Amino acid sequence: MEWDKDAADIFCSLLIADSTREGAKVHAETIARRAGHDRVTGEDMAKTKKAYYGRTPEAVRLAEFRKRAGAGETELRQRMEQTARNLLKRDIELFTVIACRAEPADRNFDPWELKPEVEQKLKELDVTGIITDKLTLKRPISQHHKFVVSLAGCANGCVTPETRAFGLSGVMKPLINDNECSQCYLCVDRCKQNAIILRKGRPEIDTSVCDYCGQCIKVCPKSVFEPAQAGFRVFVGGRLGRFHQPGFVLFRITDKATVMKALEAVVSLIRDEARGEEGIGDLIKRLGVAPIYERIYAPSVS
Ligand code: SF4
Ligand code: SF4
Repeated sequence: MEWDKDAADIFCSLLIADSTREGAKVHAETIARRAGHDRVTGEDMAKTKKAYYGRTPEAVRLAEFRKRAGAGETELRQRMEQTARNLLKRDIELFTVIACRAEPADRNFDPWELKPEVEQKLKELDVTGIITDKLTLKRPISQHHKFVVSLAGCANGCVTPETRAFGLSGVMKPLINDNECSQCYLCVDRCKQNAIILRKGRPEIDTSVCDYCGQCIKVCPKSVFEPAQAGFRVFVGGRLGRFHQPGFVLFRITDKATVMKALEAVVSLIRDEARGEEGIGDLIKRLGVAPIYERIYAPSVS
């Protein structure tokens, strides 16, 4: 969206954190769109400034930022203006896809290979447009408004997929074959779930506690374990912060096509059912998870 010069000047002089400025841009453009403007005006930006300054006067904000930045006013304002001018040149997406850096030897899929595909899917589903339409604009737009997808290559989940709107862990279900076991106990030592015991010289897996991390498959020198299935664990509706909650396990293990259908189902559920800024975690609390499965298995979710 285009910006009038006075609107851009106000935006660039706002004393707000860099991480908040993206939200302020979306906020101003949403105010403009809802007012029927085809560009952001000074009036739209003045309303945005009021929302972002809250109850803190400019002088207090300036003192605070100077203290944090360890800079004089001129230097501080120059730095902030540069960030703001750069932001005005690009579109802001209200989603984030984070990917872990699992060691290639440990992971069950490559999160960095999948990341662009997920980002493209979120763009096609117009996640930013859907969230923007539901903004109440009663408070500054922050990271909490973003639809966050977390991609963890292995079951350790360093990027906490279970605490995000949508999360994946790479998993691999083991199967024991007839290969001879040397009784080295490497699999027993490696299994963090204590799911493996050796009985009569052969491994056995307690399937009630195995979480499909696949480590026994990777560590066994005799290839006694083989992958019965490799894929993704899918979490949905997790949340960090004051009202944190773990995500629901939508699939214990599934394939990529189903993951993409699940993502589409979750986004379409938000589009159709979310009240105001209600996130997927609250939607699941209110409606349960059945509507997600219904959309995944419906002929079409669009
Ligand atoms: S897949 Fe992981 S949790 Fe399951 S038995 Fe193997 S090492 Fe243990
Ligand atoms: S790692 Fe393989 S060879 Fe070693 S005890 Fe386990 S199953 Fe047997």
